[in-house]
Amino acid sequence: MSSAYQTIVQSLRSSFPQPVSDRVHDAYFVFSCLRALDQLDAMKSVSPLLGSPEELDYDAARRRQLADAPRSLEDVTRELVEHFSGMFIWSHPRSQINVIPPPTIASIIGGLLPSIYNPNLCSDDTARKVAVAEVEAVSMTAHLVGYDPLQAGGLFTFGGTGALLYGVKLGLEKACPGAGRRGLSQPPVILCSQRAHYACLTVANWLGIGEENVVRVPATADSDIVVEAFEESLRTVLRDGRPVAAIVATMGTTDAFGIDDLAALHRIRSELAAEFQLATPPHLHADAVIGWAWSVFNDYDWDANPLGFRLRTIRCLAAAHNRIRHLHLADSLGVDFHKTGFTPYISSAFLVRDAQDLRRLARGDQDMPYLFQSGHHHPGKYTLETTRGGSGPMAALANLLLLGKDGLRALLGHLVTMAETLREHLGGHVSTTVFNRNNVGPVTLFRVYPDGIDTFTVPKREESDPQYRPQLLAHNAYNRRIYQIVHQDALRGEGAVLSMTDCYRETDYGEPIVALKSYIMSPFSDEASIDAILNSIWKARRIVAEESAAG
Ligand SMILES: *Cc1c(COP(=O)(O)O)cnc(C)c1O
Repeated sequence: MSSAYQTIVQSLRSSFPQPVSDRVHDAYFVFSCLRALDQLDAMKSVSPLLGSPEELDYDAARRRQLADAPRSLEDVTRELVEHFSGMFIWSHPRSQINVIPPPTIASIIGGLLPSIYNPNLCSDDTARKVAVAEVEAVSMTAHLVGYDPLQAGGLFTFGGTGALLYGVKLGLEKACPGAGRRGLSQPPVILCSQRAHYACLTVANWLGIGEENVVRVPATADSDIVVEAFEESLRTVLRDGRPVAAIVATMGTTDAFGIDDLAALHRIRSELAAEFQLATPPHLHADAVIGWAWSVFNDYDWDANPLGFRLRTIRCLAAAHNRIRHLHLADSLGVDFHKTGFTPYISSAFLVRDAQDLRRLARGDQDMPYLFQSGHHHPGKYTLETTRGGSGPMAALANLLLLGKDGLRALLGHLVTMAETLREHLGGHVSTTVFNRNNVGPVTLFRVYPDGIDTFTVPKREESDPQYRPQLLAHNAYNRRIYQIVHQDALRGEGAVLSMTDCYRETDYGEPIVALKSYIMSPFSDEASIDAILNSIWKARRIVAEESAAG
C-alpha cells in the first residue's frame, strides 16, 4: 500500500528525464520534445506568423490560479504550444521588425542541452566542461575582435545591458577605487553619444551614478558621435575634476547602425589623460553588441573579394568594418550573439582586454590571486549573478563553430545586400525618403509622405526649419498611421512586419522625427520579400488617402 503522495511521486518520476538510461523512457522524452516541435511546425503557413493572430487576454491571464491536481505532460505541452500562436517568425523574409535574429539549429541545440543538464556557470565545480565552453566562446570572440586571447577575459551575462553594466562598473572601480565597498562620495560621469542606447541611462541609474550624470555628446546625421564635441565634453568634465566612470563608444546604434569613431575616442582619451596627469585613464567601453560581428572582415581581402559580393555591398561592409576594426582599442566591450550572431536569447558576452581587470569586481578580499590561476575556475567570485546558465555560451559556441568567418561574412553580406535593395527602391520612389541614406548596415529608416509632397525638399525643411513644425507633426502622425495599417496587415499574416521609431532623431528645433524601420535579419530575405514590403506600404498610403478623403 502506498500513500497518496507516493503515488503522485511515482507518477511524476515519468515527468523527469531518467537519471539512468532507460531506452523506452529516453525515447518518450525525445518523442515528447518532437511532438511539441511538430505541433509548432503545424502552425506554420506562408505568413510571417505561427498559427493565427490572437487577441492578448491579460484579464483572463490575471485570473489564473494553481490547480490541485498535476496534469499530464501531453496536456501541458499542448497549452505551452498554444502560447506561440500569433508569434512572429523572425526567419520569415517578410519579418523585418528589429535586430531580432532567427536562431540557427546548432544554437538552438546549444541552448537546449544545458536546460536538460543544468550546468551552473558559477563555478566549474557545477558546470564542468560547459565552463570550458564559456572560456572557448570568450576566447574565440576576443581573438576575433583583435584582443590577445591569452590576456583577455570575459563572461556571459544577461544581455547587452548586462555587458554595459559590467563595463561601467569596472570603469567606476578604476575611477573611484573602493566605490563598491564604500559607496560614491562624488558622482562620476558617463560619456556617450546622443544616439547611444538607453542602457547607458539604466546603468547610470542602477549603479547609483545617476542618469543626470550621463553626458550625452551630440551625434552626426549618420548617428555617430561628433568627435570634436566629445573632446570638448571630456575636457570640461576633467577640468571640473570630476571622475569619469566610463566613455561608452556605440559601435552600431540600435536604430540606425551609426558607428562611433573609436580610434579617435581612444586617441583623445589618451591625450587628455596625459594632459590632466591622470594615473588611470578613463575606462573606454565599446557597446559593440550589434557591430562586433563585422570583425569577421578583419582579414577579408576586399580587392580579391573571394566571396563575390557585389560592389555596393563591398562598399557598405568595408565602410562599417573601417570603424569596427578598431574594437581592440576598447578596454572592454559587449557582444550580443543574440543580435548579429543568430542565437536564441540570452547570449551576450562581456569581454575585457585585460582579464586582471576583473579582479576589481571580485567580492571579499581585494587580493584573490587564486581566482585567476589554473585549477579551479570560479566566475561566481566576480559575476553580478550567482547562478548563470550554460545556454548563452553554448549557443554562441555552436554558431562560432557552425558559421566560421565565411558563414558570418556571407550572412552579413546578404542582409546588407537586401537592405541596399530596399534603400534603392525607397530612395527612387517619389513618396518615400530614406533617412539613413549613407547607412551601411542592415537597417533602413524611412518616412512615407502623402501625395503632393516634394520629398526632395520637405524632409530637409522639416528637419531644420521651425516654420515647418506643423507639417512635421502632421507627417509624424501620417507615418504612425501608415505603420498601424502595415502592422494590422502583418498581424493578419499579409504584409510585412516592420517597426516604427518614435524618435529617429530630433529636428534642429527639438521635435522628434518619427520613422518607419526595416531591419533585415533573415537569411531567407530575397527580392520578392522586398517587393512585398513596398506593396504593403503603397497599400497603406491608398488607405490613408481614402480615410482623409472621407474626412
Ligand atoms: C540592444 C542594445 C543594447 C541592449 O542589449 P540587450 O541585449 O537588449 O540587453 C545595448 N546597446 C545597443 C547599442 C543595443 O542595440
